[in-house]
Amino acid sequence: MKSIMRRAGGAILKSPDEIEQMRRAGTLVYRVLSRVREMVRPGISTAELNTEAERLIAEAGAEPLFRGVTTQQAKFPFPAALCTSIDAQVVHGIPSEEPLKEGSVVSVDCGVRIDGFCGDSAVTLPVGQVAPDVERLLEVTREALAIAIREIRPRRWWSDIAAKMQAQVESAGFSVVREFVGHGIGREMHEEPKVPNYVDRREGRMDFRLVPGMVLAIEPMVNMGSAGVLYEDATGWPVVTRDGLKAAHFEHTMAVTASGADVLTDGHAEV
Ligand code: MG
Ligand code: MG
Repeated sequence: MKSIMRRAGGAILKSPDEIEQMRRAGTLVYRVLSRVREMVRPGISTAELNTEAERLIAEAGAEPLFRGVTTQQAKFPFPAALCTSIDAQVVHGIPSEEPLKEGSVVSVDCGVRIDGFCGDSAVTLPVGQVAPDVERLLEVTREALAIAIREIRPRRWWSDIAAKMQAQVESAGFSVVREFVGHGIGREMHEEPKVPNYVDRREGRMDFRLVPGMVLAIEPMVNMGSAGVLYEDATGWPVVTRDGLKAAHFEHTMAVTASGADVLTDGHAEV
């Protein structure tokens, strides 16, 4: 039998039951990131963080979403459950045996699928004590995500919210990465629509209206210096800032409800 999927703005709308299933995936991601947060300190390697994440995901009977992903640029499928991006790495860093250093930041991105539905969340963590301007970078990026959560309302244009996120980042003297954006999420990690963290009026086609039942992974990526990014090396995986300054990345998966946003990756699960 052909299934009837409700769609809006390219997004596959989710039923309340499906959103509860997505909260299970989101809650597992939350648990993984909480554990990683406890573990991060100078001297630990991102490979150790990944091993623990793989263990927690397997124990829950879930599937890590990033392992095996390929892209046009990538020379090999992504080899881990976590993306761990250190300092100038913005996204898609590969876990390694290299110990984390005091004063660094590490962005940890985790996605899982459980019983057919996905969750996706990221956080940037300080390693030991970081400089005040780095602390500020994390605060401003976290706040950009908080703006999205507070401002989501049915019928609003996404670009109105993206404009507020961008203004907040730029007024702090930082820049929003353009090459990577958030996304719809559901049975697949990446669904329509694309969810930019900036507004470019020439890219009006990226705009959409928020509708209850949409589930979005919103993920501001903020550079301390200029917005430009490039691939770090020939692997086509780690994306780094062009100027070598640090970057931060915060992400939550959230459902649009009749009254606002329901965050599915913040651990507030009733399941
Ligand atoms: Mg993610
Ligand atoms: Mg994502």
